[in-house]
Amino acid sequence: MVADLYCRDCGRTYAASPDEPWRCDCGHPLDYAEPSLPDRGSAPAPKALDRDLGLWAFQSFLPEAPLVTLGEGFTPLVEADDWDAQFKLEYLFPSGSFKDRGATTTLSRAAALGVDTVVEDSSGNAGAAIATYAARAGIDADVYVPDDVKQSKLVAIQRTGARPIRIEGDREAVTAACLDAADDEDVWYASHAWNPAFYAGTATLAYEIAAQRDWSVPDAVVLPLGHGTLFLGAYRGFRALREAGYTDRIPRLLAGQAAGYAPIAAELHADDEDEPDNRLTTALESSEDVPSNEIADGIQITEPAREQQLFDAIADSGGDAIAIDGDAVEGELDRLHRAGFYVEPTSAVATAALREYRSRGVVAPGDDVVVPLTGSGMKTL
Ligand SMILES: [Zn+2]
Repeated sequence: MVADLYCRDCGRTYAASPDEPWRCDCGHPLDYAEPSLPDRGSAPAPKALDRDLGLWAFQSFLPEAPLVTLGEGFTPLVEADDWDAQFKLEYLFPSGSFKDRGATTTLSRAAALGVDTVVEDSSGNAGAAIATYAARAGIDADVYVPDDVKQSKLVAIQRTGARPIRIEGDREAVTAACLDAADDEDVWYASHAWNPAFYAGTATLAYEIAAQRDWSVPDAVVLPLGHGTLFLGAYRGFRALREAGYTDRIPRLLAGQAAGYAPIAAELHADDEDEPDNRLTTALESSEDVPSNEIADGIQITEPAREQQLFDAIADSGGDAIAIDGDAVEGELDRLHRAGFYVEPTSAVATAALREYRSRGVVAPGDDVVVPLTGSGMKTL
């Protein structure tokens, strides 16, 4: 029995099927009709969790069955003294990024529905994750990527047997081409931005952080934000933990966006005349005096699929979003690499954002902070 989908904006429901739509007729994203939530009494204590199951140890929180898995999850949570934070090493996944959290649940849904072919659009990491798990499932995958996709990400997609389709133009053009294909009735859109199964998977970040800290949550989690697949998943996960009585609060969720591609930060700080970043974030149209962040290729998104849900998550958690420029990312990337964290530039947006939040006093000395490091440096060539 595969879970049905519904639209929280207009209330329409859609029965689970290989022909299910990728979004509601009204244009809004779909979610699960009945989100999974375990009883406090029935779910395992941290020491009883079977970590051999990886993130599927949290089956009672998940709306899908573990049909397509590579044992992913339970990434290390380590101390990072130079940052006065804990880092969650999300780049240690089978395809080298946190996107595998969503790929295992999304392809598990596709397999349960009997889907033959999935399509996805991505700057690289989500494409590699979907291709990897499609290969594991024996499902065909067409992955739409930008023409300037990093070679190592292209190869990671290609070598699985998936078909990479390179599209000229910006990231939005890639999505447009994929959506044309998704209208074909014979394919299923395994979108990391739209598919609710993906967010059910990324919510496991929150479950792991809480479990690894004996069901306590940090004061703040600082994350990179493009479409918000990890940001929104983390929010949903922390909210589910609180609703199930495991924890008593949701940490503040603090985002770093790429300058020039920062619609959430721009909206939140539109009236802050003195904000140095405001100049960057409000001028989204490219202009010569706007130094856009071209190094953080994983989050160059100007129209997040679930924008309103992101604003709601920020408001409910007491969070924020700010824009980070390319120079800050490069400096931070050097620091991370020299400390032994071999991550991709997009990951450094989060630690650069932590530095900026500290300098603004948003994160106070002594605050308990977790930062997920999202993607491997081995895929940046
Ligand atoms: Zn709707």
